[in-house]
Amino acid sequence: MAKYIHPSTTPRPPPTDARGNQIHNEILLGLSADCSELLSKLEYVRLKVHSVLFETGDSLKSVYFGNSGMISILSVFPDGKSVEVGLVGKEGFVGLPLLVGFQTSSTRAVSQIEATAFRVNGETLMEFLPRSSELQQRLRQYSQISAMQITQIAACNRLHEVHERLARWLLMCSDRVGSNNLPLTQEFLGQMLGTRRSSVTVAAGFLQEAGIITTARGDVKIINREKLEDVACECYEIMQLQAAEWRNGSK
Ligand SMILES: [Zn+2]
Repeated sequence: MAKYIHPSTTPRPPPTDARGNQIHNEILLGLSADCSELLSKLEYVRLKVHSVLFETGDSLKSVYFGNSGMISILSVFPDGKSVEVGLVGKEGFVGLPLLVGFQTSSTRAVSQIEATAFRVNGETLMEFLPRSSELQQRLRQYSQISAMQITQIAACNRLHEVHERLARWLLMCSDRVGSNNLPLTQEFLGQMLGTRRSSVTVAAGFLQEAGIITTARGDVKIINREKLEDVACECYEIMQLQAAEWRNGSK
């Protein structure tokens, strides 16, 4: 017998922009109708793997609301080496310095997985921002959550084992991408964790032997998320709890 589904519980399709592109960005989805002017100025963009949104020192002419996939924020050293210091997915925004009037980026932003985003001219956003306390509040909150995560990850990279950090990082990626299938090579994982590729291979092997992930060429699949959370260092839970506490307290 067909199960009756009450109309109110039927999942609604995601809202779309004027051109029919689905909006998944959580900051944009949380805005009320008085932000429709801003929404009309957003440009939907597809970002291929390794698209650079900003280099360190670039002017923030355009900024981005993440919509799908994942954008890495990297700290770049003079010798060209780089380490990931932040991750942005559908929950976030790329271009935070602009919000306080700083015109350039101190980091590199690059799409590490094929991604989509809503791009807006930086001047347009700054003209609109004083008219929407709601958008100001949401971007400020995101900025603080982002800073909290960067602080925690800095401590994590100093204190925790590679397999714990890898598990924590895979959980963060999965949350942002909204999938357990992550198109990530081990070389890339090493770069993101700021560690040697051989260490990442050992750590990924450990997770695979424990039946937590599978890795094929260029792909990581999480097959047991509960165990992945058990293996991850406490940093993942600390960040989740802190963000939830702030969000619940801000209502
Ligand atoms: Zn940690």
